[in-house]
Amino acid sequence: MQPERSDTEIIVEYSAHPDARLYLRSEDGELHVWDLRSLGAIARAGGPSHEIAVIEPATRPVKLLIIEKGSGLRVAARVHVHGAHGEYLPPKGHHRKVNAGWFQDYAGELLNGLNQYAYVDGSCDIDLPLGTVFVEISRGFEVQPLGRMVEIAANTELVTFERDKVLHWREQGWVSADTHVHFLSPRTALLEGQAEGVNVVNLLALQCGEMFSNVADFDGRMTIGAKDFGGDGEFIVRVGTENRQQVLGHISLLGYEGEMIHPLSSGGSNEGAIGDPLETTLAEWAQRCREQGGLVVLPHSPNPQSERAADIVLGLIDAMEMKSFNPYASQISAFVLADWYRYLNIGYHVRLVAGSDKMNAAALLGGARTYAQLGARGFTYRNWMEAVRSGDTFITVGPLVNMTVEGKRPGSKIVLPPSGGTVNLDWRIESVSVRPTLVEVIRNGVVLERIPCENLSCRGNLAIQVKESSWLAIRVRGSVAGRDADIAAHTSAVHVEIGEKPIFAEADAVSVLAQIEGSIAYIDTLAPKTDEARHSRLRATLELAHHRLHELGAGHAHIPVHSVRVAREH
Ligand SMILES: [Zn+2]
Ligand SMILES: [Zn+2]
Repeated sequence: MQPERSDTEIIVEYSAHPDARLYLRSEDGELHVWDLRSLGAIARAGGPSHEIAVIEPATRPVKLLIIEKGSGLRVAARVHVHGAHGEYLPPKGHHRKVNAGWFQDYAGELLNGLNQYAYVDGSCDIDLPLGTVFVEISRGFEVQPLGRMVEIAANTELVTFERDKVLHWREQGWVSADTHVHFLSPRTALLEGQAEGVNVVNLLALQCGEMFSNVADFDGRMTIGAKDFGGDGEFIVRVGTENRQQVLGHISLLGYEGEMIHPLSSGGSNEGAIGDPLETTLAEWAQRCREQGGLVVLPHSPNPQSERAADIVLGLIDAMEMKSFNPYASQISAFVLADWYRYLNIGYHVRLVAGSDKMNAAALLGGARTYAQLGARGFTYRNWMEAVRSGDTFITVGPLVNMTVEGKRPGSKIVLPPSGGTVNLDWRIESVSVRPTLVEVIRNGVVLERIPCENLSCRGNLAIQVKESSWLAIRVRGSVAGRDADIAAHTSAVHVEIGEKPIFAEADAVSVLAQIEGSIAYIDTLAPKTDEARHSRLRATLELAHHRLHELGAGHAHIPVHSVRVAREH
C-alpha cells in the first residue's frame, strides 16, 4: 500500500527556543503567527486546528524485536514504522529521508515509492511517539508480511513481533537468488538478503568510466555467510564482476575463482574510460569465467545487447537475466521475455534467472528473483550454480511456481517418436501476497492455454499434443502494484524433441543472425581499435558464431558486412 501525498498540508520541523514564534505566510499573503510555547494548546483547544496540528514528538525509546515463530530466534527483516500523521519513524542509525540517488545511499535501506524502510538484523532501537504507531515487517516471499497498529505508552520498552514462515519451498530444495546487485558492502548485501529471504546474493564489482565499485571486496575465493567461512550457510553473498562494453553489451561473471577478470570495462565511454580501446569481446570474458569455474549470465536483457546473440550461439551463456529494479515500478518485461523465447525457438536452452541490478536505495534487492531447485544437492554456492546450469529455475516477483512435463523438470528434454505424442504438464503456484491472476501455458513463445487463478494458491494440469519439436513453460500474470497485464513469474522450459529433429524457427534465426552481423559491423567501423592482430581476433569470434548459425540452416539475403581489408569511408 502506498500513502497518498497531500496537496494541502505540509510538515514543518523546527528547532527553536521555546519563546520563539513561527511565522507562515499563506499564498494570499496573509501572515500567520504562532507562539511555539502554545502551539499544542491551540491545536487541542479547538482553535485554528484546521490550520495547524501538532505531531507528537518521538521521544520514547523502544526496542523492536523480530523473532521466528517456533524457534524464537531473532530474524532479519525489512521494517517500516510511521506515526499517526504518516510521519516515517526510522530505527536509530537510519536516515529519516532515504536517499534514492545513484551510488549515494547503500546503508541498508529502501525507498519503495513513497514508503521508506530500514533493514534490521532481528532487533532495532527506535524513538516513538506516545499513542498509535503503524508497523510493517516483511521477510521475503515465503513469510506472511505483517502490518499492525501498536500502542506506545509512557512505559513501553519492548515490542516483539513473531513471524511465521507459511510457505516451505526452501525446505523442498528451492533456493532463491538475486543475480545482480551493486554497490552494497558484502555485509549489507548479506543483511538485505536475509531480510528479503534471498539465499544467494551476487554482488558484482563494476567499472563506470573512472569509477570502480566493490573491486576490493572480490577475492575469487570467499563466499560470505557460507559455513566454510563462519556463517550459517543459509544466506550467502558472493562477489563476482559485471564486465561491460557500451555496444557489445554487459556480461555478468558470477562465482568464478582466482584472479579478477579484467578489463572490467572496455571500448571507451560510457562504460570504460574515455579513449580506452576495445580490448576484448564478451565471448573472451565468458570463456575466462567458464575456465575459472563461474556462471555466465547475460544481465538486464536485452540492453545493451549486440554481441549477446553471438555468445548464445557459441554456447558461452548459461542464463539470461530478467531485471526489475523494483517490481513496484515495473515487473518482468514481456518484450524481454520475447527475446528469450527467440533463442529457445532456435534450439538454445538458455536458462532463466532474475535480478534487481540494484544501484540505489529505490531498487529492491531480490524484488525480482531466481528460484533454483537443488535436487539432491546440499546448499552451497557451487551447487547453486550447478542448479542454475541444470536449468531447473523459475523467476518471480512473488508467486512461486513448480512445473513438470511428464514428471520432467525445467531444463530437461523429452524425446518422442517421429509420430509425436501427448505430454502432461502439471503446475502448482503458491504466494503469500502477490496474487497470481492468470496461468499461461507457453509453447514456443505462444500462449497455448490461459487458466484463471482465483486464490493465492492454485494448481492444474494440461494434456498437450505435440507433433513437432517444442518447448513448454509456465508464465504467471499478477501485479505488485495492481497493473492488469503484469507478468509476475515465469519458469524455465522443458524441451520436447520429436524424432531427433531439434526445434528451429527460421525467422528467429534470421533475426539473431542480423544481430551478429550488427556486432561485426560495429567492430569494423565504430569500435576504438588498438592493433590489427587484436582486431582480427575479436572479429573472428563473431564470424565463428555467424558461421555456426548459418550451418544450422539460417539462410537469408546477406546484408554485406564490412571487411577489415576493404577500404571504407568511416
Ligand atoms: Zn549492466
Ligand atoms: Zn549491473
